[in-house]
Amino acid sequence: MTNELKRYYSDLRDKNYRIWQKRVADCEEKNARFRALREEPCRVMQQAADGKISYPTAASRLGQIDAERKTLLISMGLPSDYLDMIYTCPICKDKGVVGETGKPCACALKKEQEMMRTASRINDRETFAQFNEAIYPTEEQKKQGLGMKRFCERYVAALPRPEKPNLLILGQSGLGKSFFGNAIACAAIEKGVRTVKATAYQCIQDILSGIESREDAINPFLSAELLILDDLGTEAMVPNVTIETIFRIINERAAAQLPTVFISNLDRSELSERYGERVASRMIDGALTSIVALRGDNLRTRTR
Ligand SMILES: [Zn+2]
Repeated sequence: MTNELKRYYSDLRDKNYRIWQKRVADCEEKNARFRALREEPCRVMQQAADGKISYPTAASRLGQIDAERKTLLISMGLPSDYLDMIYTCPICKDKGVVGETGKPCACALKKEQEMMRTASRINDRETFAQFNEAIYPTEEQKKQGLGMKRFCERYVAALPRPEKPNLLILGQSGLGKSFFGNAIACAAIEKGVRTVKATAYQCIQDILSGIESREDAINPFLSAELLILDDLGTEAMVPNVTIETIFRIINERAAAQLPTVFISNLDRSELSERYGERVASRMIDGALTSIVALRGDNLRTRTR
């Protein structure tokens, strides 16, 4: 379990414990008999420890106290389990793991995916299920959009090892490229693929802040099971940083056979102009990369 996830569960247990404490305090404030019973279990246990009563007697007395508390709860119009410990997930009791083996609970897997989406600024409303062919202004563009959707879905289905690991999506802005990148990310995370999605701008900003704080900020981009790098071409061109970073990402991910989706408004010649032949030739290497170029009218201006 990641530290972030551990912290989530520890906060969740704290939060539920505080709610429980508040419930107890409220009941004791409202009901004098309830209040009187508060110290009772302790007293009974002390009597048993001192040998004044037997342990079986103590146990039966504790059972009576519990039953009386439940009756009081009902008389106050509350459910009899109102003061049971509160768990958001009764299966793992908010520990995130089940059983002796420490297997992650379903709630932990779901939470982890949610955290991944948040960290990568993935929009969970832009999914293949949300795909709407009605936004396309022409039949031709609609056909292209549907083809693109099928293609991306096949790519996701083949993850984490698509036949060609990389996907390069090109086209002018407003053709839905980022939508497909986002939908790929959502579907990949859903199938348990550790995914990082960022714009090239965010990526380079992360690297630059990493240089400042002496952290190796490139690691998430190199090690994610799937990387989606959107808006390639909008990042700052920092000498000795930008091209080197993109090169390392392409090179090291290819060496590790990790799939990468690149999305850009630039065309092939603009890519090699901006990043140089060394980077561009790897990015458009047909052996490693499926290249899709979207064409047509801007969907955002057309639908407004
Ligand atoms: Zn759980």
